[in-house]
Amino acid sequence: MTTAVFRFAPSPNGALHLGHAYSALLNDEMARFRGGRLLLRIEDTDLTRCKPSFTAGIFRDLAWLGLAWEEPVRIQSEHFGDYDANLLKLWDAEAIYPCFCSRRQAAAEALPQRDPDGQAHYGRRCRALTRQVASSRMAAGEQFGWRLDMVRAGDAAAAAWGDVVIAKKNVGSYYHIAVVTDDALQGVTHVVRGLDMEPATPIHILLQRLLGLPIPAYHHHRLILDADGRKLSKSSNSTALASLRAQGVTAEQIRSQLGFVPAS
Ligand code: GLU
Repeated sequence: MTTAVFRFAPSPNGALHLGHAYSALLNDEMARFRGGRLLLRIEDTDLTRCKPSFTAGIFRDLAWLGLAWEEPVRIQSEHFGDYDANLLKLWDAEAIYPCFCSRRQAAAEALPQRDPDGQAHYGRRCRALTRQVASSRMAAGEQFGWRLDMVRAGDAAAAAWGDVVIAKKNVGSYYHIAVVTDDALQGVTHVVRGLDMEPATPIHILLQRLLGLPIPAYHHHRLILDADGRKLSKSSNSTALASLRAQGVTAEQIRSQLGFVPAS
């Protein structure tokens, strides 16, 4: 039997909170239970929002919680070349196309359908560009994002997103292509992450199919909510692990509050 490989993959765009602690501890517990490995990955492709100080905070908070992970940690911003290589493969297969539309133009021509985030589906204007025209606009330095061609993909589950952007430099992120590329490169067999990620999973499975990559087992865990029943956010400080620590809360208290047995 192959060894199970789990990963915790936070984005350093804010401080880790109780919800992240739950996810990290659950991955750790599941990896131990199966005699598997636990990887930590820093998902910092969104250069507009991620900061090295948050990355440093992630290492501090996780070590404080008593977690250990394998070195070296993969830092996504150091591997754009790997993601670009997969994007080119997908473009060659005509599974994705570059889109040069501004936000405003895309909004003006949007389709009536909405994606799981509530955004209107893209009207597909740039799908009609020839490869030659698209290449010369890219070479001229125009900004663009890569969109999945859902009509060609014919994937009912992922189609809920319309021609979703899977990678966009400078403006947004490389999130979808980076996750899929790295889970495969790192041999991840089990993706355990919050229910808030569940709607994106069909996009990841579609990308894995298109790229001929193995499809890991997916499990989406419950979200830790605040006292008012709302999802915790990175901007709210009250449940940040660093503030709890500063208030004298111990790692053991956090573990038991979240329902985990004491660290051995
Ligand atoms: N980096 C994502 C986040 O922090 C999680 C991605 C994943 O677990 O696949 O929200």
